[in-house]
Amino acid sequence: MHPLAQLDHRFLWHPFTQMRDWLKREPIVIVSGRGTVLRDVKGREYLDANASIWTNLHGHNHPKINAAIRRQLGKIAHASALGLANEPASRLAAELVAAVNPGGGRRADSKHFATESDRAANSCPRLPKVFFSDDGSTALEVALKLAHEFARRTGRSWRPKFLSLQGAYHGDTVGAVSLGHIDLFHKAYAGLRFKCDAVMAPYCYRCPFNRARPERADAREYRRCHWECVDQVERKFAAQKKRGQPYAGFVFEPLVQGAAGLVPQPDGWLRRVAAIARGQGALLIADEVMTGFGRTGAADSGRLFACHQEGVQPDFLCVAKGLTGGYLPMAATLTTQAVFDAFLGEYDEFKTFFHGHSFTANPLGAAAALANLALLDSPSSLRARRQLEISLRQELAGLWSLPNVGDARQVGLVAGIELVKDWRTRAPFELRERAGLRVCEAMARRGVLTRPIGNVVVLMPPYCTTPAQVRRMVSVLREAIAEVHGGGPVRTGRPRGERRTFLKPEPSVRGYRARPDA
Ligand SMILES: *Cc1c(COP(=O)(O)O)cnc(C)c1O
Repeated sequence: MHPLAQLDHRFLWHPFTQMRDWLKREPIVIVSGRGTVLRDVKGREYLDANASIWTNLHGHNHPKINAAIRRQLGKIAHASALGLANEPASRLAAELVAAVNPGGGRRADSKHFATESDRAANSCPRLPKVFFSDDGSTALEVALKLAHEFARRTGRSWRPKFLSLQGAYHGDTVGAVSLGHIDLFHKAYAGLRFKCDAVMAPYCYRCPFNRARPERADAREYRRCHWECVDQVERKFAAQKKRGQPYAGFVFEPLVQGAAGLVPQPDGWLRRVAAIARGQGALLIADEVMTGFGRTGAADSGRLFACHQEGVQPDFLCVAKGLTGGYLPMAATLTTQAVFDAFLGEYDEFKTFFHGHSFTANPLGAAAALANLALLDSPSSLRARRQLEISLRQELAGLWSLPNVGDARQVGLVAGIELVKDWRTRAPFELRERAGLRVCEAMARRGVLTRPIGNVVVLMPPYCTTPAQVRRMVSVLREAIAEVHGGGPVRTGRPRGERRTFLKPEPSVRGYRARPDA
């Protein structure tokens, strides 16, 4: 075993990992990356089909993001936001406000106006204030605490209560855990959590109200229902109102729930439930930690956030993972003037928001984030995103011939492939069968890295991923499914014109140098 792998085995405890299994195998030790390609300590190369846990947008080692971080590093790495301002964070806050208010702010005279209403929104941005933190969990934590206190101060509720979606995951700090509804993750901490109601999330493939028989297509396309999932939301709000304690906030991931299993919403769902929640006076808390910054497609509209694709502007918009292009930990919670104003007062009224982290508004992270936003705006990024969406769609179509593929669902630049025992019955694999994990292990042996969510294999490549690389990811997925679930590997061969970028012979370990760029 490589000495670095040995150190890992001896000292590290990995997140979301059964360490007994981990310790049975030599881990892949990543030392460098370029674009979509990751390289390990033995010189093997892999395609990063999971965007390094959903964070990476423009590829690894991007010269512009690297340069932005280096430039900032030459000035200062960190300065406190408790009592001080700093340059990159100030600039970033302004850019974020412009980005999350459609067509907004400093891009006022640009092509970014999709509609007249976007133009109107720009003159008075709905989300003019930015609170920085470090991770997705903390971004949600901030939204939650602000919404909670806002409900109390405005007299809406003395014991504010929240509603979120079944299967939801909003992070691992205790507030964020309270909003989640994945028993496997959250049940153990029931005693720590505050109460947060769950309401049915649209999950067309496994929806009890969907009367359609399984077909070889994304379940949203052939579903037969009467929007019962929307009725459920309506009923939930009505019942809570009857109890005299209307919900303070409605928390959701727009367009697609990530950790719930890449569960996509049919067109129009968000628009409908957002109207219901607003009608009941609840604040909308959008978790765009996974979906934000173009991941859900629609590159041509210039819109970077999933809720805007449904014409919804929330009261809180939380971003993290891709904010710095996936280079450094940083998060932001954007909110309204009304929420901000509820915390204004004389010093000794103590209306201050008493919350913050040591690394809040970190200059290095903010510099990376500024470079990320500039890249997202560039014509080449728009082209790449458009192309990636098309490549994914084309390649995924080839999966329907496999009997163990039940649903293959794509939302922009992310896809979930749900593995089943038999597509005709939708019969699920039991979790203990590790159906998704085994497929991902077989993919790793072929040089493609991703992680499953239960029985759902995730493909979330960086935006710079080429059509040939997407083809490779999907053909490796095909081979892996065939190997694990259906009678030996299928030889699909390498598509023409593709460079061999992985499974190179292992150079001797002595050739290893610790500098990642070496
Ligand atoms: C990853 C994720 C989080 C948590 O973010 P961390 O940075 O891991 O704390 C919250 N919400 C969503 C939708 C996520 O995908």
